[in-house]
Amino acid sequence: MKKLLIALATATLATAALAEYPEKPVTVVVPFAAGGPTDKVARDLADALRKQLKQPVIIENVGGAGGTLGAAKVAKASPDGYTVLLHHIGMATSPALYRKLPYDTLNDFEYVGMVNEVPMTLVGRSTLPANNMAELRKWIDANKGKINLANAGLGAASHLCGLLFQQSVGVDMTTVPYKGTAPAMTDLLGGQVDLMCDQTTNTTQQIESGKIKAFAVTTPKRLAMPSLAKLPTLDESGLKGFAVSIWHGMYAPKGTPKAVIDKLNGAMRAALKDPEFAKHQEALGAVIVTDARLGGAEHKKFVESEIAKWGPAIKAAGQYAD
Ligand code: ASP
Repeated sequence: MKKLLIALATATLATAALAEYPEKPVTVVVPFAAGGPTDKVARDLADALRKQLKQPVIIENVGGAGGTLGAAKVAKASPDGYTVLLHHIGMATSPALYRKLPYDTLNDFEYVGMVNEVPMTLVGRSTLPANNMAELRKWIDANKGKINLANAGLGAASHLCGLLFQQSVGVDMTTVPYKGTAPAMTDLLGGQVDLMCDQTTNTTQQIESGKIKAFAVTTPKRLAMPSLAKLPTLDESGLKGFAVSIWHGMYAPKGTPKAVIDKLNGAMRAALKDPEFAKHQEALGAVIVTDARLGGAEHKKFVESEIAKWGPAIKAAGQYAD
């Protein structure tokens, strides 16, 4: 009887604690450097989440190893809803790229939901002699062995896109890994690296101001955004079938109580409808998710399908890390 009373009291306390969640700041881990595309999505989302959760929402940048260090940190965090992960397509590509991933993508997280989809652009330093895809292809062929391609490490979106690009043009380039594409962009602006694939959330303003050259979009269709609409797709530029689009989702450590995940999901859905969030995201070319993938279970199914889609392509390219 005494045991039953204690169990009941503990359950009641736990329910009360959940009802009050969150009672303190929530940390969103971004597995890339500050100022880059994932960070920009996370910071916009944090501003909107703050209004919903009525608590500070803090961004912690844990860059390195293509996003896997930050993801590992969240997988091992306390499952209380106070540490969550905002990650991208790397959730689905890293399992194929790493022989020993320090977490299990499908079993070490609770899936909160999917946030947005973002196109990528193929961009280059402003001093490149090429001004369009045809000229770039010629320049690449004439400079084999001398071309640097920046990325955010093995497992990053820029890595996946760069890998497919090298395969498609049949030329190996020297990849230069950074902790995120924010520091990579600094070097591209400075002319230290030649080319990079990166999300429009990081490249749009630099393209518009003419500080970098844009050659193509990686999506199957051209973009609607007026400033980027003139960019051809890689597919129409001769790289048949080239199609990469990046998505972002939110995750919590496995074992985070369902009531907390539901609260986070509700806050995320409301945040995505925040007019300010929507305006910022639209200006950067991101498309906010409105379909069933807003739900954790549906998003998890989608990630499973992405793992199945990208795994064979990555394995065929033969790129692995331990
Ligand atoms: N866009 C980067 C990538 O290549 C990540 C980042 O810095 O947000 O995945």
